[in-house]
Amino acid sequence: MSKQFDVVVIGGGPGGYVAAIRAAQLGFNTACIDEWKNAAGGPAPGGTCTNVGCIPSKALLQSSEHFEHANHHFADHGISTGKVSMDVAKMVARKDTVVKQNNDGILYLFKKNKVSFFHGRGSFVAAKDGLYEIKVAGAAEEVISAKHVIVATGSNARQLPGAAFDEENILSNDGALRIGAVPKKLGVIGSGVIGLEMGSVWRRLGAEVTVLEGMPAFLAAVDDGVAKEALKQFTKQGLKIELGVKISEVKTGKKGKDSQVRVAYANAKGEAQELAVDKLIVSIGRVPNTIGLNVEAVGLALDERGAIVVDGDCKTNLPNVWAVGDVVRGPMLAHKAEEEGVAVAERIAGQHGHVNFNTIPWVIYTSPEIAWVGRTEQQLKADGVAYKAGQFPFLANGRARALGDTTGFVKILADAKSDEILGVHIIGPMASELIAEAVMAMEFKASAEDIARICHAHPSLCP
Ligand SMILES: Cc1cc2nc3c(=O)[nH]c(=O)nc-3n(C[C@H](O)[C@H](O)[C@H](O)COP(=O)(O)OP(=O)(O)OC[C@H]3O[C@@H](n4cnc5c(N)ncnc54)[C@H](O)[C@@H]3O)c2cc1C
Repeated sequence: MSKQFDVVVIGGGPGGYVAAIRAAQLGFNTACIDEWKNAAGGPAPGGTCTNVGCIPSKALLQSSEHFEHANHHFADHGISTGKVSMDVAKMVARKDTVVKQNNDGILYLFKKNKVSFFHGRGSFVAAKDGLYEIKVAGAAEEVISAKHVIVATGSNARQLPGAAFDEENILSNDGALRIGAVPKKLGVIGSGVIGLEMGSVWRRLGAEVTVLEGMPAFLAAVDDGVAKEALKQFTKQGLKIELGVKISEVKTGKKGKDSQVRVAYANAKGEAQELAVDKLIVSIGRVPNTIGLNVEAVGLALDERGAIVVDGDCKTNLPNVWAVGDVVRGPMLAHKAEEEGVAVAERIAGQHGHVNFNTIPWVIYTSPEIAWVGRTEQQLKADGVAYKAGQFPFLANGRARALGDTTGFVKILADAKSDEILGVHIIGPMASELIAEAVMAMEFKASAEDIARICHAHPSLCP
């Protein structure tokens, strides 16, 4: 007889593993299936986020930022170092250790919360007698069954037509996180979060980085004022950013003598250009992943993008089948996946799990960091909302001066009549941490005056 569970979660990324743990905490007999393998072929739960996303990118950003500080900023503090060098292999090995610690942490949490973990690919077999049968294809093959299924199979990097990832010269986020030596010239297609973060890492380490972006506007989803400041700062740092380009062809030379990648494109004026680089990172978005899930066996509905169709509660078209995270609509962010995972587990338990899409924070971990929550000025104008804007520069903040980083500002947008905070936009030091206060304020429907009246420690970046 197959092993039977109350809840089976397919996918062990932030959406899946968090859903599994919450379901187990709520008293359900729960299993989580994840197929990610580490270099030794063992389990590596945590998904894109832990293995080739949030965590490793932040590890490399931290290492490269230390390198940049040692080279350019330590002297301001009276610290002389002599010539600073970077051991890229050691930096990458450190990143791998950080990833493994997170993989192991998730396995520990599964054990502690009594979640049964299956290492392998999960696919639907059939729906029978109120149960879903799911095949697990790993070292061995077995079929398990469950009343409730949560699909959390994530997303994959989108390929540029005619330029398949080889992870040697044309890199997805995966290859971009394991470049073995600093490339002399690096191309990045796509100036979104991933492109800017990866471009920043290798620029700090000495690569000449060119970013090609198809959209005419830089960081179109970001508040206009912040995007303008970001473009100014990144350009000042040496990132070459070309907007409004149209890529026509990407060619990889033969190995050895001419292994450069050549990108033929038209610039914003329509003039033909060529960019030759040693490595090319393609970061033009991600596509929902349902490969190998065998959705046809049970009739699970997908939309035209290949995402699993869900309602506002993450319910699919099938009874007791739910889907969360990157494989469904909404922002592709780890914390959004986690929130949905928790909410679904609670809904299965008959509780009122809730995700507030209006207060999901966004962060770009470049330097300066960029973080925001709520609506931008351009969105408020388009929505016809009467608002007031207040902006404070870090230049006028004592802690920022002491830190030696006075770039950027905090902008608060509030309703013109009620003063309720509608959006907070930060570019500058520790924006990723500061934004949490704005999220909290918006969750509690605070007014801008409420924030002003809260006692903040002095000196801190909250003035
Ligand atoms: C370079 C990079 C940096 C990022 N940085 C950030 C950041 O700083 N902050 C942030 O919020 N987001 C960031 N993201 C986005 C974030 O990683 C994703 O939004 C998040 O991982 C989505 O979680 P998920 O659980 O939906 O899917 P995933 O994390 O993709 O996990 C899905 C898991 O399911 C497994 N799987 C798939 N199909 C099957 C199957 N049939 N059987 C078994 N297992 C299966 C996969 O192997 C994987 O382990 C980043 C992404 C990238 C690429």
